[in-house]
This record gives sequence, C-alpha cells and structure tokens, in this order.
Amino acid sequence: MLVETKRDAGMTPGKDKYVQLLDSPGGQWERPLFGLSNEQLATVMGTFGQPAYRSRQLSDALYRHWHSDLDHISTLPKDLRRGLIEAGYRMGIPSISETFRSTDGTERYLIACGDGQTVETVWMPEGDGGEKGDGSEAAEDEENYHRATICVSSQIGCAVNCRFCLTARLGLQRNLTSGEIAGQVVSVLKRHQVRVDRDRINLVFMGMGEPFLNYDALMDAVRLLVGEVGIAESRMTVSTSGIVPGIERFAAEAVRPKLAISLNASNNLVREQIMPVTHKWSIDAVMQAVRRMPLRFKEKVSFEYVLLGGVNDKPEHAAEVASLLRRANIPAKVNLIVWNPGPGVDFHMPRPEDVEQFQRRLLQGGIPAFIRRPRGRDIYAACGQLKRTGSTVS
Ligand code: SAH
Ligand code: SF4
Repeated sequence: MLVETKRDAGMTPGKDKYVQLLDSPGGQWERPLFGLSNEQLATVMGTFGQPAYRSRQLSDALYRHWHSDLDHISTLPKDLRRGLIEAGYRMGIPSISETFRSTDGTERYLIACGDGQTVETVWMPEGDGGEKGDGSEAAEDEENYHRATICVSSQIGCAVNCRFCLTARLGLQRNLTSGEIAGQVVSVLKRHQVRVDRDRINLVFMGMGEPFLNYDALMDAVRLLVGEVGIAESRMTVSTSGIVPGIERFAAEAVRPKLAISLNASNNLVREQIMPVTHKWSIDAVMQAVRRMPLRFKEKVSFEYVLLGGVNDKPEHAAEVASLLRRANIPAKVNLIVWNPGPGVDFHMPRPEDVEQFQRRLLQGGIPAFIRRPRGRDIYAACGQLKRTGSTVS
C-alpha cells in the first residue's frame, strides 16, 4: 500500500517525488515518471548517460501509448530499463480503483493517488445534451468513434465554500499534482481505448476543486496534455468561481484552454449569499479581468449559471444577467445548470418552466444560452455532486 510521499531534495530533476511502498521489501522508494515534462525526462535520461532522443521515446511510452510497465518499453535498451527500475523509477500512470456507471452512460471513477487518497473523474459520452461539454453545438458525424467529455478534478475537496456545492463540504484536503491531474485524463483515455488523433474528446476542468487555486499544477498538466498527450487546448475548458489573479495569469498564457466563469447570480447581493468568494472579488472585478483576456478567433467565454429554485431563477434575474453580459461586451454564452441536490445542502431545484423561461429571456436579450442536461445524477457524477463517495452518499 502507498502511504507516504516526500519531496525529493534536488537529487532528481524538478518536481520529481518519491513514493514509499510499505509492502515492498526494505521499504523502497519509488519515483513515478508520469507527470514529468519532456525537459525533466531528458534530465533523467542524462543521468543515465543517454542521448536526448531517449526522452522522446520515454515520453511517447508514457503519454501516447500509456504503458504502465517500464519493462515493456521495447524502444528502450534492456539495460537502460533495468537501470531505471533499479533506481526506483516507475511509469506511475494513475489507476482507476472504482467505477460507477449511470443509466445514461456516464461513468464516474475513483482514481488512486500516490498517498492512498482518491480523486473523482467523470466520462460523459456524446457530449452534454445536444451540445459539446463546453456548450458549443454538436457535430452530426459521430459514428464509429468516441465523442465524449471528460470532467477533471484539480484538487481533493475545495476551499471556496459555495453554499450549493457538495464538494465544498469536504473542505480542501489537498492540491493535486500535475501528474495526478493529467493522469486522470490518461487513465480514462486508456480505459476507453481512445484514439486521440481521431476521436473527439473534450476536457472540462470542472470536477472537484478550484483550478485557479492550484494554478501551477493545473497549467503544467495542461501543457502535458497539449504537448505530449496531443489534445488541443481549444478542446479544453477551465471553470473558475472567479479567482481574479488566476484569470489574469491565465489571460497571459501562450497556450491556454477556454475559460468558463461560474457566475451563478445576476448581482453581488445574491452572489455574496451563495458564493462568499464574491466578497473578495466582485462580479465587476471578475468581468474586468475577463474583458482583458485576448480571445482567439470565434472564441467565446462561457458563463455557468446554476439555477437555484426561488433564489436566482426569476425573470428579473435573467434580464439582469443579459444586461450584465451585454455591458461587458465580450463574446459570451451562458450554460444553465439545473441545481443537483445533495444531502445536507439546503436549496431547491428550480421548476422546469422557470428554467425554460430563464433561457428564453437570455435569448431575447441577445445572449446565447444552453440548458445543460444533468448527467449521471444516479451515481452522484453530476456537477457539484463529486464528494469521493461510493455508490451511495452518506
Ligand atoms: N470550482 C470550479 C469548477 C468546479 S465546479 C467552479 O466553481 O467553477 C463546476 C460547476 O459546477 C460550477 O459551475 C459550479 O457552479 C457548478 N455546481 C456546483 N455545485 C452544483 C450543484 N449542486 N448543482 C449544479 N451545479 C453545481
Ligand atoms: Fe469549489 Fe466550484 Fe464547488 Fe465552489 S462550486 S465550492 S469553487 S468546486
């Protein structure tokens, strides 16, 4: 069993870490290769006196072929493989420890982390109800290959404390490493035998946690997923509760996914009640930061809006959201999410007619608006329901 991790004090490159295997003879230390950048892999190869092209071979084995056993990488010489293993190196691709399958085809996974904790990841086949997971329209030509959205976690638990969210109940347990973030994607791609060059896979960083409160690991993971795994950043969306310094750093990135803001209220008064983070960064401050972000051709910023019955779902709220977004004058679209209930979270679902009316009002106000079909509610895989649970929630 894996029980303890510790930072490597400069013996090996960068963010490498050792993981002690309690049940391994002599309490050996292991070093996972998964999560290392190409540059870091080159440094590892350098310590074995190997030329730079060996790191490309190792990177392909890790991030393109998803080998879980160093001994099976036939492109590397046998002696080198043995040397790496003797030095404690392991491939270290995270493994799925439990799978929950919804009647709608959604799958929720518990993925084992190095320290015995688990993190949640969700696979949603066929996008998100007539649209892709990011809210853009679906393609017609979807036979014989995967079209799916993977919902990725960035932290275990969350410190932001939105009142309507089940993940908030956990508090922040810890940040995930870049390897653990990218590893969720790779272990799910491997399970479904996805062909990255052919299948249409979208990634949404909308699982557990606030991505911009784990910024460096998130962006390291994004760079691995774009550069090594081969998923285009235009197929990725990062969702934030409105952490302004994070939005500003994100805006300056050369390679970045699309941005989604969890707006969830039409004015600061309501938002402060349901998202205390608004006291720190008001809606105005968030909008200003978003406005300064240079957008790509045809790129839109998504605004997520969780409809809470009787709280933020009235026609006047919709009118206020429309005018807020018109004033902001950015290419935007709104994804309406019907609140998913959870035990001990004291809100109500909106009435179906209010949801439709809300969408109509936004459309009338000139704002593209989509209603997100809830996915995997029966297995607690829907938005805001991730809480490291088994088949039932306690
Ligand atoms: N922390 C980030 C990303 C994870 S939450 C963020 O807040 O944006 C992903 C989305 O789920 C957010 O838009 C959030 O508002 C929404 N959400 C949280 N709890 C929910 C619930 N119980 N029902 C529906 N959506 C919820
Ligand atoms: Fe954290 Fe997002 Fe849940 Fe808010 S909605 S508590 S930011 S995971």
